[in-house]
Amino acid sequence: MTTLEQMYSALGVSQQVCDLGQSVLDGLETRFREIDRRAEINQGKVLYAMQKNKVSAACFAATTGYGYDDEGRDRLEKVYADVFHTQAALVRPQITCGTHALTVALSANLLPGDELLSVSGLPYDTLQEVIGLRPSPCSLAEYGVSYRQVDLLEDGSFDYEGIRKAITDKTKLVAVQRSKGYATRPSLSVEQIGEMIAFVKSIRPDIICMVDNCYGEFVQTIEPSDLGADMVVGSLIKNPGGGLAPIGGYICGTKQCVDRCAYRLSAPGLGQEVGANLGILPSFYQGLFLAPTVVAGALKGAIFAANLYERLGFRVVPNGQEPRYDIIQAVELGSESAMRAFCKGIQSAAPVDSYVDPIPGDMPGYDAQVIMAAGAFVQGSSIELSADGPIRPPYAVYFQGGLTWCHAKLGILLSVQKLADAGLLPK
Ligand SMILES: *Cc1c(COP(=O)(O)O)cnc(C)c1O
Repeated sequence: MTTLEQMYSALGVSQQVCDLGQSVLDGLETRFREIDRRAEINQGKVLYAMQKNKVSAACFAATTGYGYDDEGRDRLEKVYADVFHTQAALVRPQITCGTHALTVALSANLLPGDELLSVSGLPYDTLQEVIGLRPSPCSLAEYGVSYRQVDLLEDGSFDYEGIRKAITDKTKLVAVQRSKGYATRPSLSVEQIGEMIAFVKSIRPDIICMVDNCYGEFVQTIEPSDLGADMVVGSLIKNPGGGLAPIGGYICGTKQCVDRCAYRLSAPGLGQEVGANLGILPSFYQGLFLAPTVVAGALKGAIFAANLYERLGFRVVPNGQEPRYDIIQAVELGSESAMRAFCKGIQSAAPVDSYVDPIPGDMPGYDAQVIMAAGAFVQGSSIELSADGPIRPPYAVYFQGGLTWCHAKLGILLSVQKLADAGLLPK
């Protein structure tokens, strides 16, 4: 018979690291129970939406060409709208990634002369070129959309006074990023975001409030659209794709906003009517069905990593006790070599490409070199076990995902193992 210890030893985890992991896990039972409870609620939410919209085998059929009358595509969008409690949704393989979904949402709803206001500080790296903060052809700036930013306060909360002052007649859209992205600020709760939206609407009810929802889906039992967001936007190769969607993004929101997004994505006049599904829909449906439990596994991994690395003396964001508002765990490792060792551990735990040695490289959309560990079934998927981070102080790796909790656990143990092997653990 094979014991757990023998199995871990075969996978490269020493008895010492195993024992450390177990002692950390012993203190996490209550938190894991709460995660399972939320997963159960979110699973129900997804099932209810699928049943209400009478999802059937016919929805999985491939369409080609223009994709007129694509029943499966249209019904999937209704399912998403019901999960997020919005009037409408745009969910398609023609949206290539999260950045693309956000670009569509912004450029569809901002016209020349309008101003975009970010109220959660500097947006995610790839959006900086979209906005034109780093000059790029076809940026919003090039089209005459101006930009203003209000940073979060020292404690990570919204700067309400700053927001009030920043809102002008030109302000058309307020953007907020739920997840910290590549920053070491705290992520925002849906409740915090809802309060901010109510504040903005109390000043000017016509301002569109858009939430970059990447990495946040199904972490709580409500979404920002439950608390007034006009658009929530995200990537299907993160949480809502459940690890199965091989491409795609979504925009859920008011009919008015989503219609414009559809016109921007395809063409004015065509909107949601075109866009063949090319046979991809089974993965979209089944991925959404699995997403609540996949997110739960990823959350357990994040909490385990936080507590383990905290025990080892590293600064982690969020810390071991804090509530979770996304699936990202930042660990500040303090050096490039420690980042490499950590990523090597995550990589060596992977089902795919486990023998590969991750090294830093240039990435489109990022201004520093980035190191990435991902042995994923879907290339670049970050709902699968992965770690990445820009090579710049404080040399933080952003760890996320794990399609199963058991895999996430192995990856984290191996990351500690690689740091120990390289002599990089604090004494
Ligand atoms: C990942 C991410 C994006 C961009 O999504 P991609 O699919 O990588 O293009 C945008 N915002 C946040 C907060 C993200 O985490």
